[in-house]
Amino acid sequence: MSHSSVRKVAVIGAGIMGRGIALAAARAGCETHVVEPMAAAIGSAQEELTKILARSREKGEMDEAQAKRAREAISWGEGLEGAQGADLVIEAAPESVEVKADIYRKLAPHLPAHGVIATNTSALSITELAATSDRPGLFLGMHFFNPVHRMRLVELVRGLETQEPALQVAEEVAKAMGKETVLVRESPGFVTSRVNALIGNEAFAMLETGVASPRDIDKALKLGLNHPMGPFELVDLVGLDTRLSILEYLQRTLGDRFRPSPLLVQYVKAGRLGRKAGRGVYDYTS
Ligand code: NAD
Repeated sequence: MSHSSVRKVAVIGAGIMGRGIALAAARAGCETHVVEPMAAAIGSAQEELTKILARSREKGEMDEAQAKRAREAISWGEGLEGAQGADLVIEAAPESVEVKADIYRKLAPHLPAHGVIATNTSALSITELAATSDRPGLFLGMHFFNPVHRMRLVELVRGLETQEPALQVAEEVAKAMGKETVLVRESPGFVTSRVNALIGNEAFAMLETGVASPRDIDKALKLGLNHPMGPFELVDLVGLDTRLSILEYLQRTLGDRFRPSPLLVQYVKAGRLGRKAGRGVYDYTS
């Protein structure tokens, strides 16, 4: 992994994605500060990162000194003032324009003029989010994949106003994290979420009409189409609520072929949100 000239990265949100992004930034040699308002989420993020580092050591991917350096490069706090002086902010807060806009507004006084803001949104408009910030030219999408420490791609998403320096900073940091990048012009769902949402929704439609069992639909896509995970295994990891909000957005922006399957809507209403809830399409409680 090469080192980036970006000194400080601030990661906003320590949920499923933010914690992995923070570890990747720390391993890339950046001083990394995580902002997370929920103390419980900080605790669980720290535990998970300790486990990931332990596994990486067992596999010989890093030695104890490297793991210690990565751990020590990350600081944690509940307030946005911790982002003070960040060269790059990677925002991984909940998928809501209102929540994200509020964060950008409150971030503004803490960032240097050159500070770049990247959002990890799965499907929201980069241009719309950028317009709520104080720096649309230094704003872009950095779309990471779950689990961040294993997935090699980052989609760099250019909004209407995104300028070259923002893309350069994001690409440099992504490379230092050991990731590959693709450049995508803003469009709903970018490349990956758009295709993935459609596949996942079709899987629910097949389940609803009794075409096959969840296990067999997953098996068919893995062994027949060479997907590394089945669509239900994947949606349980991503979160059914997250997938539903992506589909609703794609339906609004791209049309009815993205109408969420009624079965998916029902699962979300029942609280079957995936692994994080102990139950999604599959049961994780036993
Ligand atoms: P999550 O719900 O697991 O985590 C979000 C975290 O943000 C929570 O810990 C929450 O407490 C915190 N938060 C809430 N309000 C905040 C605020 N005002 N400031 C700072 N933190 C705040 O969500 P996630 O799955 O990690 O998704 C985060 C973003 O990444 C979303 O935009 C999502 O669309 C995107 N994304 C998710 C995936 C995925 O597989 N889950 C993949 C790619 C992109």
